[in-house]
Amino acid sequence: MIPGSATSLDSPGWQEQLTASIRHPKELFDFLELDGTHLREALAAHSDFQVRVPHAYLSRIRKGDPNDPLLRQILPVSEELLAVPGYSKDPLAEQQANPVPGLIHKYHGRLLLVVSPNCAVNCRYCFRRHFPYQENRPARPEWQNALDYIARDASISEVIYSGGDPLVTGDNQLRWLTEQIAGIRHVKRLRIHTRLPVVIPDRITDSCLQWLTGTRLQTSMVIHSNHPNELDDSVGSSLLALKSAGITVMNQSVLMAGINDDTDTLAQLSERLFEFGTLPYYLHQLDKISGAAHFEVSDETARQLHSQLLVRLPGYLVPKLVREIPGSPSKVPLT
Ligand SMILES: *Cc1c(COP(=O)(O)O)cnc(C)c1O
Ligand code: SF4
Repeated sequence: MIPGSATSLDSPGWQEQLTASIRHPKELFDFLELDGTHLREALAAHSDFQVRVPHAYLSRIRKGDPNDPLLRQILPVSEELLAVPGYSKDPLAEQQANPVPGLIHKYHGRLLLVVSPNCAVNCRYCFRRHFPYQENRPARPEWQNALDYIARDASISEVIYSGGDPLVTGDNQLRWLTEQIAGIRHVKRLRIHTRLPVVIPDRITDSCLQWLTGTRLQTSMVIHSNHPNELDDSVGSSLLALKSAGITVMNQSVLMAGINDDTDTLAQLSERLFEFGTLPYYLHQLDKISGAAHFEVSDETARQLHSQLLVRLPGYLVPKLVREIPGSPSKVPLT
């Protein structure tokens, strides 16, 4: 391994790994040796929100086990097609907080830039599974509108790269965008919200670390992991490379039935993250996006799990339990 880098020379590059991802239920069933009787329902749910999984993530899933906690995050199932009262296509009303394409400004002092419409993995519970990304995909010239918006509002001290997943975008483009933002004097901090270090850890290349660290902006990264099995040693090397480069790395998770709704799993997740220099940040109650109702955990159970974590772990390893409420000026703690 090259010092300071998480990439090994013999594995395919991250872009090849993206291209080689599994994008069809049949491939997924074959590769993971799953019971074919559920293929038909998987195809139906896939036509609503398509399958997408890189091999680096697949390699952490136990073959032939329909209840694997990583599999459940990526496998389309028939429950997704049920209409459930209270679940909708835009539960966070983000489509109204979209003053210029590619930008979501809901909270004081910080805003999201939709840097890439795509993700490396399609998570079945995703709150953005129905977001109209096609209308929110600025190419370089259109970034000017978003940059002008940031430059006009001196209250904005932090810009968050979001998506989709911003790290699906190439490093040249990200370096360019970061330079433009660093040119706006009132912006102090840059934050990257990404699941790529978890699903394709080779994404954290030397050239990625260069633009992340070669800016006057204070840079942090919020990764997204829901289960300790996601954090193998390759993910660990990438997280430690980010930390060694001086980037503050945090994690957010979504609380989900059958995946991480027990104290042991959540405690192991926090401890594993910290082994890799990463601090738990948020534990989110699920957003009520249609297709994800089968992952719901009641508020009562969520609070109980959170109290048990407070007893079990040092305070700094307990994520804040929050939910997003449309119109609210921040994430809202569950109390
Ligand atoms: C979650 C979110 C943020 C970041 O919130 P923090 O509490 O600072 O992590 C910013 N803008 C939008 C629109 C968000 O949804
Ligand atoms: S935005 Fe995040 S949660 Fe949603 S599909 Fe992409 S990686 Fe998964």
